[in-house]
Amino acid sequence: MATSIATLQKAKVEKPLVGYVHSIETFGSVDGPGIRYVVFLQGCRMRCEFCHNPDTWNIGVGDEMTVDEILNDAIRYKAFWGKKGGITVSGGEALVQLDFILALFKKAKTMGINTCLDTCGQPFTYKEPFFSKFEELMKVTDVSLVDIKHIDSAQHKKLTGFNNETVLAMIQYMSEHGYHMWIRHVLVPERTDYDNYLRDLGKYIHTLNAIDKVEVLPYHTMGVKKYAELGISYPLEGIEPPSQERVVNAEKLLDTASYRGYAS
Ligand code: SF4
Repeated sequence: MATSIATLQKAKVEKPLVGYVHSIETFGSVDGPGIRYVVFLQGCRMRCEFCHNPDTWNIGVGDEMTVDEILNDAIRYKAFWGKKGGITVSGGEALVQLDFILALFKKAKTMGINTCLDTCGQPFTYKEPFFSKFEELMKVTDVSLVDIKHIDSAQHKKLTGFNNETVLAMIQYMSEHGYHMWIRHVLVPERTDYDNYLRDLGKYIHTLNAIDKVEVLPYHTMGVKKYAELGISYPLEGIEPPSQERVVNAEKLLDTASYRGYAS
């Protein structure tokens, strides 16, 4: 029997909102305060040279999961979250799936769950419909982990494929509204590990409000194998992780010790 167009349209309308999930970590301890259920969403437009998850880049693929499927699974771990823990949505770039995170966080807040967004800000824009949804998202987000890949815009573009104006605009918005942030910076020899850039970044972070924590993440080579598997040439071939001395130097220049708010 032929299916009417009206029936097909109804089926389309009623399809539940799904997120495209790359993977889930049930006991995350580094992606936000406390112990967290971390959902890594699929999809990212940036191409950071140091990315250790190139398998998260493709958009619109991955395991399809609804908000309820994720929350029903996450809630099984609630006993481990304590006062600080909860759910983190990371990526890829989480904001690529803004509608889904918004629905997820809205529902999570009705269940009293702490919510954390891990983002590099690349999809941010003041244009609609994105911006109104982003504003709504901020109201149901307890803390955001925001990566600043490079404080110099031209270097940021070389490192990631995009300039840094977008992420800085997003951070400015969050700062002006007092939305809590952790700032994270990957220390990469020959790319970001220069005192002048680190000093500039440190000064910039000091101009912001509601910064609970600043973290230096040393570049590592754990993603190299994935590039080989995907048949992509590795952009940082031959660059070794920074020495402990350089990590301490970066922490000093970013003044990480003075940010001890709503942290881990
Ligand atoms: S933003 Fe994250 S997922 Fe995207 S390329 Fe950079 S490191 Fe990889």
